[in-house]
Amino acid sequence: MKASALVILGASGDLTRRLLLPALYRLHARKLIGDLRIIGYALEKWSPERFEKHVHKALSQFVPELDEAGWNEFRARLDYRHGELKAEPLAALGDLAAAGTLFYLALPPSLFGTASEALGEAGLSSAPRGGWRRLVVEKPFGSDLASAKQLRTRMHAHWEESQILRIDHFLGKETTQNLMVFRFANRFLEPVWNAQHVSQVQITYAETLGVEKRAGYYEHAGALRDMLQNHLMQLFSLAAIEPLSTWDSEVLRDHKVEVLRSVKPFTVRNVDAHAVRGQYRGGKMDRRKVVDYRQESGVAKDSTTETFAALRLEIDSWRWQGVPFYLRSGKRLASNCSEIAVQFKRNPGALPGAVAADNNWMIFRIKPRQTMSLLANAKKPGLKLEGRRVTLSAPYEEEGNSEFSAYEQLLMDALEGDRTHFLRFDEVEWAWRLLDPVLKAWKKGEPEFYAAGSEGPSAQDRLLDSGHHWRPVRLVAGEDD
Ligand code: NDP
Repeated sequence: MKASALVILGASGDLTRRLLLPALYRLHARKLIGDLRIIGYALEKWSPERFEKHVHKALSQFVPELDEAGWNEFRARLDYRHGELKAEPLAALGDLAAAGTLFYLALPPSLFGTASEALGEAGLSSAPRGGWRRLVVEKPFGSDLASAKQLRTRMHAHWEESQILRIDHFLGKETTQNLMVFRFANRFLEPVWNAQHVSQVQITYAETLGVEKRAGYYEHAGALRDMLQNHLMQLFSLAAIEPLSTWDSEVLRDHKVEVLRSVKPFTVRNVDAHAVRGQYRGGKMDRRKVVDYRQESGVAKDSTTETFAALRLEIDSWRWQGVPFYLRSGKRLASNCSEIAVQFKRNPGALPGAVAADNNWMIFRIKPRQTMSLLANAKKPGLKLEGRRVTLSAPYEEEGNSEFSAYEQLLMDALEGDRTHFLRFDEVEWAWRLLDPVLKAWKKGEPEFYAAGSEGPSAQDRLLDSGHHWRPVRLVAGEDD
């Protein structure tokens, strides 16, 4: 029996093709996955040879460094079975399972409950002596608090919480992990990482893309569910957590939950003071004409789905009392920019000569390049005592596409049973608990329209404290170099 196997349910889908298979190939090429067997499972009545062709096509498209020798070794790992998400056809996978087997639900979210139950009924959630069975679940986990709880109940009928790995690929990103390393490995940062010195934190995920071909999903999700409830809430909790005394995945997740529990809750009535939504209109981007969201294929002509969402969160704790955390994400914005930006307060007292000191910013940027920058004030070279703005920047050397790297990291962690970068149910639950009033309030009314290629709806400014400004989504020359 092989030591480990990965069974991908939904192996004919987009996620498998674009992200999972390229990540698995790269792990294989780096000799990191031992004798892992990769078994595809989907409805398509393909033979294993036909699946091989499908995999080869995907790798040819998404892995530029694919070579023949590498492919010939990789293909030997592959197998395929077809069938519905029911116990009987799935039970046949038992013969292919290894001592350690990871099931990956690369399926539409509506099927997570069905698939995990069917796997359990097929006896695949119980491991042989000395082995293990784990289940990776894609996002989103539920569409509100009630549905997330229902899904948990269905999953827990056959799977222990310790077997379930809820993926949020932002947690596999270099910058996200660096946020913890940089904060906790540097003595100089901890004394100033609090309300005494920090004035505000902005977490932004902006993209130029529109809804593309995902209207079927996005119309029901919207930006709040698609980006903020999961990815940005995760970045938020990591930026705000207390230092750990023990480096342990459970302690880390306890600390993240503590942050979410300490956020001052919204009510349906005060949502406008804490949340803003927008929807893109058409226009020209990169000299290309783009249409209104409501004119996109698959979108209702009177859709009120938000393509932009912003939140203002306040943490009721000794460390963060009075510091607003602003989170926002939107489509068809001015650039592809994603970052966590921490602004420090201004220095009190007089400065020498003609020096004007601006607030310092510490920026952890995810897109367009993974970099870490400190915006600081320094002397302008010359005989006069004048100040200037300098950017101290540390870029990461990226290997290819950062999405692949995140999936490489998370697949490795899942195979090794390291749960640090996966979500425990209570993290998901507290994020929904916070956002449920916003979802309820947004069932009525309309989002504010914003022009394609802009900074987003002007209403977002109402979330800001006096003296705070949104950092521009449009990239600022010099900050990222
Ligand atoms: P797809 O729509 O491409 O479908 C995934 C798989 O589910 C396919 O194999 C599809 O089969 C199968 N499937 C669909 N309906 C059924 C059904 N009724 N019974 C059995 N199988 C079915 O989805 P994606 O691959 O895009 O997404 C999968 C998951 O990954 C989702 O939860 C998504 O949120 C998440 N995700 C996706 C990303 C992406 O870039 N695609 C990025 C991040 C997360 P068939 O091919 O026959 O339709």
